[in-house]
Amino acid sequence: MSRRVEFFLHNLDESDISSVGEVLRSVFLTTGSRVKEFESGFAGYLDIEDAVAVTSCTGALHLALLRYGIGQGDEVITTPMTFVATATAIMETGATPIFVDVCPKSGLLTPESVAKHISKKTRAILPVHLYGRMVDIKGFSALADKHDLILIEDAAHCIEGIRDGIRPGQLSHAACFSFYATKNITCGEGGAIATRFSEDAAWYRSARHHGISKNAASRYSNKYEHWDMEMMGWKYNMDDIHAALLIGQLAKIDGLRRKREELERLYRELLSDVEGLDFIESPGPDEVSGHHLFTVLVPEDFDRDDVLSRLQEAGIGCAVNYRAVHTLSFIKQRFGFKPEDFPVAERIGRRTITLPLYPKLTEEKVHLVCDTLKEIFSR
Ligand SMILES: *Cc1c(COP(=O)(O)O)cnc(C)c1O
Repeated sequence: MSRRVEFFLHNLDESDISSVGEVLRSVFLTTGSRVKEFESGFAGYLDIEDAVAVTSCTGALHLALLRYGIGQGDEVITTPMTFVATATAIMETGATPIFVDVCPKSGLLTPESVAKHISKKTRAILPVHLYGRMVDIKGFSALADKHDLILIEDAAHCIEGIRDGIRPGQLSHAACFSFYATKNITCGEGGAIATRFSEDAAWYRSARHHGISKNAASRYSNKYEHWDMEMMGWKYNMDDIHAALLIGQLAKIDGLRRKREELERLYRELLSDVEGLDFIESPGPDEVSGHHLFTVLVPEDFDRDDVLSRLQEAGIGCAVNYRAVHTLSFIKQRFGFKPEDFPVAERIGRRTITLPLYPKLTEEKVHLVCDTLKEIFSR
């Protein structure tokens, strides 16, 4: 069945595609000049010292935690209302994720609730800028300073955000981004770490590439030079093929964000009178949100999965972001969680549906989605 409304369409255009063609027609495919160009553009956009491109946000989070020596025996506080990778990146280091329930209005972690769960074993706080809206980053930074903790941002939803004048990465130890297929800018699979500290950036460049002293680009010269392995490393380097796709999108990123913001405003307006339908609160007037996803919470007397099926039967693509991480089988069994351990996240996860939101979506289609939803909820 062809969908009447796709869940997501990317914004790659012919010029992005021909940039990839240029790389493919050249001799050099892996981490080189395109990656460098993207990294400096990305750091410039974020107004931060440096950015290091990697193969995923999950890898970015893993490296950021490793950089600060987090591992076995350590606790990292995070949110259960996120994609599972936020938690698994912590687990990959050997550390234990400690979930703290989210604010019912925003779905975000707050410094006040996190403060109550800091223990002797806590080493880091890993908040998520959910759906594009930044957490209270000033508050988290003050909390981290007070307790001498590492602050790492999961900014997979939020390249464009500004809160209290602060962008992702500017107050923390690292901000980690995703360029996965449905993210605000994409290269299929990719990620980046933004940092204020040039020594950290150098460490990430080595750690993403086996911990060896020379990358392929610096070995690509007339005179062979031996490389050495100087530290433990991983295999997370982005290549020029992927970076070529991102450079052009970065130039358009604010215009794309504004379109999503306008579409979200239209959704909220059209759905405002549906009885029992709830929304995650809008960002404050002085905030810039990445407007990555728009979600609704179905009325309590409806079954979310029924609503999801009915939308899909009507040809409307939708998704669930997210069923709370502590309710997923592996995590639940591993840590012995019960659904009611984090009741706010559990409730959002049980009621939430993500509606289509992307710059190519027309207002007409937003009307179609809203009319369909209203029909489903008419009683
Ligand atoms: C997409 C996403 C990730 C993982 O990103 P990858 O690039 O696929 O590794 C992590 N956290 C959140 C909140 C995400 O949405």
